[in-house]
Formats: sequence, structure tokens, C-alpha cells
Amino acid sequence: MGQTLGAFQLDIISDGTFRLDGGAMFGVVPRVLWERVMPPDEKHRVVLGLNTLLVRTPYDTILVDTGIGTKWSPKYIEMYGIAHETTVPQSLAALGLTPEDITVVINTHLHFDHAGGNTYRAEDARLRPTFPKARYVVQRAEYDHARHPHERDRASYLPEDWEPVAAAGQFDFVAGEVEVSPGVWVVPVRGHNDFTQCVRITSHGQTAFYWADIVPTTAHVPFAWVMGYDLYPVELLENKKRLIPQAAAEGWLNIFEHDPRCPWGYIVAGDNGKYAVQPVT
Ligand SMILES: [Zn+2]
Repeated sequence: MGQTLGAFQLDIISDGTFRLDGGAMFGVVPRVLWERVMPPDEKHRVVLGLNTLLVRTPYDTILVDTGIGTKWSPKYIEMYGIAHETTVPQSLAALGLTPEDITVVINTHLHFDHAGGNTYRAEDARLRPTFPKARYVVQRAEYDHARHPHERDRASYLPEDWEPVAAAGQFDFVAGEVEVSPGVWVVPVRGHNDFTQCVRITSHGQTAFYWADIVPTTAHVPFAWVMGYDLYPVELLENKKRLIPQAAAEGWLNIFEHDPRCPWGYIVAGDNGKYAVQPVT
């Protein structure tokens, strides 16, 4: 079920689900609070969505993030609980599209659960870009950091997710807030890491916002519910306090990349300065 946004058509393109440690997903929030919203499995992991976003405009066919991808060995499939009920190419096919139809890929950042579907292992065992006709938009500083990560985030970056894209000359490096296609802006928001970019889509006065890991699930809408993975939690909190009220006041359609049940919805201001999500059905 897609959504119309002005002259644009939006669709959630799922790459299945995976699992991460519940404590790491909720940082300093006590388990007695988060387990009510996201019950953990026997390994203390919570199920997370891999919701990429397809944006069809009169100008481009854009995919925001590419999921976790299919290059995983059985050991890691088990470790991350990767379940491909569907993949990005399969989800595109359900809409009558192929990877060749994508003209722009936006990587919010290059962590493996966002850029894993950038590439795939072809039948000749070589790694290739999944979207052969697309330019891949990423912040140049994020790319530079991915190639030289530090100990704190090294495990999140896998060169196989970008090296084939670079070798094919398909990267479109940007710096700062940029309109990458008419009506589609990348908006860097610091907090999860240094250079994650959210995506703001606007057509005929309507706005959609792809939060990436700034607000990964509806459970992360409360300002202080930030992930243990976040490099700059206080800065992230400040950015949420700025952006979430704006999302509510301006009626943005919000996309929650890792929510397993509610990929998109409207944020509404409730009592006591708290915010809730009205799911899109
Ligand atoms: Zn993520």
C-alpha cells in the first residue's frame, strides 16, 4: 500500500527483518520499560524492520537505503537473525519494477543494515552494484569515515557494500544539505554518527521525512529513547527535540526504517509535551 505525496508516489520496499540486542537498541532506557514495547527473544534480541523507501517522481525513481542485502554467510544470518521474507529486488518486482529502473540510490549512511543491498554476489561470484543505472548519493565525509572507521564503529562497516559501487564510478558524493533530485533533499543530522543524512521529500506542499537511525522505530519517538549505538546521544536528543515537534506541527509523513510493524505514520503532539505516532494503514 503506497502513499501519494503531491505529484510523487511513495512505497515501502522491505528487505525483510533482522535482530539486534535489545539493550543496545535502547541505550540507557531500562529493560522493564522497553521490553513492553519490543519483547526480546531468548537471545535478548529484538526484531527490526528493514524498510527502504521507493520515491517515484516525474524526474527520478529513487530508493532510499538498500536494506541488509544478501551477501551474508550462515553464521551471520544466524547471529543477526536475518529473515528475508522478501528482499529489495523481490519487493520492487511486486510493483512491476526491476533494479535497473532505479535512477538514484540514497544511502543515509554506510552501516551494513542500510547499505548492505548496495551490492550483490552475481552468478559468476563477483560482487556487483545491485542498481546498475543508479547514481548512489552519499555524504563524502561518511564515505571517507567508512573507509577509515574507528574501533567504536568498525563492525558496522563492510567494504563489500561500497567498493564495487566505487569501482563502477557510480557514487555521487555530496556535502551538507543538497537537493539531489527536484523535491528530494538529503539533510545531515548529527547524533547517530557524524554524517548520517535523513531525506526530506516535498511535493505540492506535502512533506515526507525518512529518519534513518535518528528515529529508527516508533518506540524511539520519545526524546530520551536513543540507541546505545549512537555516537553522540546528547546531540541526537537535541536534534530530536528540534525536528520531532516540527514533524508534528507540519504534518510530515514519517518513515521509520527499523520499525517491524509500523513503517510509516504521522507524529502527533499529545499531553505533557509527549509525542505519539498515528500509523498509516
Ligand atoms: Zn540502522
